[in-house]
This record gives sequence, C-alpha cells and structure tokens, in this order.
Amino acid sequence: CGIVGVLGNHEAAPILVEALKRLEYRGYDSAGIATVSNGKLDRRRAVGKLVNLSDLLVHEPLAGKSGIGHTRWATHGAPSVTNAHPHKAGPVAVVHNGIIENFRELRTDLAAKGYPAATETDTETVALLCQSYMDAGKAPEDAAMATIDGLEGAFALCFLFDGEDDLLVAARKGSPLAIGHGKGEMFVGSDAIALAQMTDQITYLDEGDRAILTRNGVDIFDATGAQVQRPRRTIAMDA
Ligand code: GLU
Repeated sequence: CGIVGVLGNHEAAPILVEALKRLEYRGYDSAGIATVSNGKLDRRRAVGKLVNLSDLLVHEPLAGKSGIGHTRWATHGAPSVTNAHPHKAGPVAVVHNGIIENFRELRTDLAAKGYPAATETDTETVALLCQSYMDAGKAPEDAAMATIDGLEGAFALCFLFDGEDDLLVAARKGSPLAIGHGKGEMFVGSDAIALAQMTDQITYLDEGDRAILTRNGVDIFDATGAQVQRPRRTIAMDA
C-alpha cells in the first residue's frame, strides 16, 4: 500500500500512476487517484492491478496538475471500488495508509451531525470529519489540521480539496511519509522511491508531523502545532 501527492506543472494523472507503480512492491488490492482540474476535484478508482486503473483512465481521463493517489491494502471494508481511495466527502478527498482506531466513535458522531458514511472504511470518516470542519467555516488547511488532531491510530494521510489547485495537507503518525521538492513543484510519497522520477530532494516527516504544501514549498508542524524545520536530503537513486 502507498500514497502519493503532486502539485506539479504537468498533467498529474500519469505521474501519479507511475509513482504508484513504484509502490507496487508493497502490495495492494485496489488503487485510485484524484485530481483538481479548473478548480474541480474528480477521482477514478479500480479494483485489482494498477493496469485496471490505467485502462479506466484511458476511457475516462482525469485532467489537472494537482492530485493524490493510493494503493490500498484493505483493513476495514472489502476491496471494492466504493471502498477504494481516494475517499471523498463534499470538497475533501483523502488517501490513507494505516488504521484509524477511533473511526467507529467518529462515524457515529458524524452521522448524528448529518454526515452519514457511504462506505465501510475507517478512512471515509477522515474525509467526513474534515468536511464538517469546513462546513463550520474553517479554511481547508485548518480543517485538515483539526481533523488530524481528532484521529487515533496509525496513519499516513494526504488531503486534496475541491477549488484548491495549489494545496496539499499531509500527516504522518506510525506510517512513514516523504516530501519531495521540485522546481516550482512539490510532492508527497510513502517513500523516496515513489518520488524518484520527480526529484531526489527529500524531506522525511518525523513521527506526528503535519505538512502544508503549495508549489512554493512546505510548512511543517509537529504534533503540538509548533512549526519545525526538518532536514532536506539529496537521495542517491539508481532507479
Ligand atoms: N484502513 C484503510 C482501508 O482499509 C487503509 C488501508 C491501507 O493502508 O491501504 O481502507
């Protein structure tokens, strides 16, 4: 399973799929991507091999230079298109590796507030919670931060927002996550291998870190909300 995110200057879909191929070695049962094109968020998902997603994208292409992608190893909910990531709730799309331990409480709470779940996954509650914060007036990045604060368990997360062509929010707790620095482009990946085609300039998030990315760069915050600096490394890559 793996995660990728792109704020690029080229069409994102082929880049996302290529990065997911580099994460295939981790194993997965379904895959999907979401992009923002002309401000509009859309997604494509397929069960089985990545080639199924690529084939779907031939028939139903996704434009846009910003996006997120995911290979799923199902923990909550069968491998199906409905349960595949990215999960979407209102303007929020999210990809997640790991397990949200408190998703049942969150799901009950959210359903009572008018945000019923449409899938069997723990991940969908992350998108719904973020949507509820945005509906309450929070800006996307603040809504994502508040959401992350409310999650228990192990996760690598990446958020994409409808209407936001230059914003990703990523978080790491118990699951590694790397930030890639390009020239006027920024990337997120489960590891440096995923990003090898885009950049060799990598910043690893520390445990508990959250990152707000735009094409101009990244702001990183620790679990207390304090802004922090994490080293940027040049990764030697043969691939
Ligand atoms: N727990 C999530 C799910 O089952 C994420 C699984 C993963 O790490 O791919 O959808």
